[in-house]
Amino acid sequence: MSALNVSAEDVKRVKGMGFLNNKGTDNFNGRIITINGKITAAQQRCIAEAAEKFGCGEVAFTTRMTIEVPGIPYEKIEEFQKYIAKEGLVTGGTGAKVRPIVACKGTTCQYGLLDSFALAKEIHERFYEGYRQVVLPHKFKIAVGGCPNNCVKPDLNDIGIIGQRIPDFDKESCKGCKKCAIEKNCPIKAAKVVDGVLKIDEEVCNHCGRCVKNCPFDAIKDGAYGYKIYIGGRWGKKVAKGRTLSKIFLDKEEALNVIEKAILFFKEQGKAGERLSETIERIGFENVEKELLSDAILKRKGEILA
Ligand code: SF4
Ligand code: SF4
Ligand code: SF4
Repeated sequence: MSALNVSAEDVKRVKGMGFLNNKGTDNFNGRIITINGKITAAQQRCIAEAAEKFGCGEVAFTTRMTIEVPGIPYEKIEEFQKYIAKEGLVTGGTGAKVRPIVACKGTTCQYGLLDSFALAKEIHERFYEGYRQVVLPHKFKIAVGGCPNNCVKPDLNDIGIIGQRIPDFDKESCKGCKKCAIEKNCPIKAAKVVDGVLKIDEEVCNHCGRCVKNCPFDAIKDGAYGYKIYIGGRWGKKVAKGRTLSKIFLDKEEALNVIEKAILFFKEQGKAGERLSETIERIGFENVEKELLSDAILKRKGEILA
């Protein structure tokens, strides 16, 4: 630990509260949780005031959508927390626990297939706050993406959840046009007219939903909204690309339950110091997927968290 007059024990203690030592000083970065990367004007004012009052007058944004106020003296930490609490803001986001949720702007983005801000808030309440006291084998990162464009890289998080829209193609209405609007506009060339009828290659289609309502003959009038889930991604000292569960979830509750099952699974099966990707590698993706698609682990929740 590099603080000058603060004991290593206290540096560790306040780190657990979201205050990270500014190396070589007795000052700390206060890490404020934004819940889903969106804060109100009043909250921004409060953070700016707190930065001037307790810190060095600056704020810094982290890659996981938290806001850090640097330069807070050790003895001002509690006062800082009380000050930002006026606007409902809290510090935290460190440790071998569920980390702050990252979300893209899918709620307002033209490609968004889900309300990413609302979903991230729900995940925050249920799994960041709800599991705040649960120590895991390592950190556990969750990201919410509005569509398969993956702007917030959900596949590089322990769990990534992505909005989907599955085109409902009506073969009977398809005229097998020479110039097919769907084939022309599919961004990843998953759709092609073959033998006089459109074919969507399910292995290639990423369910971006952009073809829905785009056939002039109404061959794709609608598409169900859903959620794709990646597990076991990580980015950092080591890199692993998450793998998708074979099922697309049409029910939000079911998708959220998968997140809970993954956290419980990690708590139960993970070895101290390993990330979920390593647990999956050790146990086997198919076995983990089987666990996440069944409800057995939810029945053991009390036992696992005891
Ligand atoms: S992932 Fe999709 S919805 Fe989210 S910001 Fe990127 S393009 Fe928009
Ligand atoms: S999907 Fe529509 S545009 Fe494409 S070939 Fe069929 S009818 Fe024509
Ligand atoms: S959902 Fe997207 S990827 Fe799939 S066929 Fe339609 S446009 Fe192409």
